[in-house]
Amino acid sequence: MIYLDSNATTQVHPEVIEAMLPYFTEHWHNPSSGYEAGKAIKSAVETAREQVAELIGAKTSEIVFTGCGTESNNMALKSLARLVGRKNSKILTSVIEHSAVLRPIEAMTAVGFEAERIGTDEDGRLCIDELSEKIDSSKPGFASVMWANNESGVIQPMAQVCEISKNAGWTVHTDAIQAVGKIPVRVDKIPVDFLSISGHKFHAPKGVGALFIREGVNFEPMIRGGGQESGRRSGTENVPYIVGFGKAASIMKSALDRDNHAGITGLRDDFEKQLSDSIDNIYFNGSREHRTGNVAHVSFEGCTADALLPLLDSAGLQCSAGSACMTGKSQPSHVQKAMGFSDERAFSSLRISLSMFTTKAEIDQAAGIIRDAVRTVR
Ligand code: PLP
Repeated sequence: MIYLDSNATTQVHPEVIEAMLPYFTEHWHNPSSGYEAGKAIKSAVETAREQVAELIGAKTSEIVFTGCGTESNNMALKSLARLVGRKNSKILTSVIEHSAVLRPIEAMTAVGFEAERIGTDEDGRLCIDELSEKIDSSKPGFASVMWANNESGVIQPMAQVCEISKNAGWTVHTDAIQAVGKIPVRVDKIPVDFLSISGHKFHAPKGVGALFIREGVNFEPMIRGGGQESGRRSGTENVPYIVGFGKAASIMKSALDRDNHAGITGLRDDFEKQLSDSIDNIYFNGSREHRTGNVAHVSFEGCTADALLPLLDSAGLQCSAGSACMTGKSQPSHVQKAMGFSDERAFSSLRISLSMFTTKAEIDQAAGIIRDAVRTVR
């Protein structure tokens, strides 16, 4: 099988598994225990915190481990909502957010918060002028804009989002789950207040994530209890997963420092070229310039993803319809609608997402499999 669905999840890196194993077998104690074994485990958790902090240019004290990216988003958004209060405040987000941001904000509007969504242009980038128009400095509020989109891979103008929001006295959260590990994401350069990360998008296991909370920014914990994570997320730490997450972060940091994942981008570009050389009437979606190097988002005129996917699967290629979340639903993806695509174009798109394990041979084979499937469907 050729796996080209890395925005859905990634395989756990062998070095991550190796790093985790001793924390299931030998070092299984509670990191809060006062005896030596507990202290050693606590120190492994702190090493992982340093590794995650280093990946995004944060201080270790600004990293809180969570159970997943969805939890990180909910923690940040619910804290922000509690702190701004529902009376005379405002929330802005984008139309292309993941459901892990859209649903919590919908729940806020259901209890009386005012929230609006900002659109994107046809390249899938946030309409920054609309943000300037809708932001209201006379009200307390916050903006939540994703760093990179999970379907298109399009990178959002976070520096501008922060500038506009800060000028209005607002706080900024970003769901950076599809950006961290793939592109340089630096909180020491871009002044977001909250940033969500998920381990399984970059070769850590599923079920571990982090929330960056900038020093000095107010935060109300969502999960209270024994006071772990400096009281910001109680619950006995998932030590093996946190250790694996830290290891994955350090592997990603090395890859980004080395060549910014140039190998993955090169393979993606090669793959897109093979598709455009061999198949007529295809459209590459999303900004060419501002996108993560691992995603190709392509529409094939006259072929629905629903017709293509079973053929691809049986020929040995795993990838997604335009949106993993929308697979199986009969609505076009909200992300592609935001880019102004017709239903037909939206329904005929595939998201192909690579990882550091993708090989040239796989890309060549996948391009051939897609070409044959498109011919069959057409
Ligand atoms: N946000 C984005 C942009 C995502 O792509 C995902 C996962 O697909 C999530 C949030 C949810 O993360 P997790 O699966 O860790 O809960």
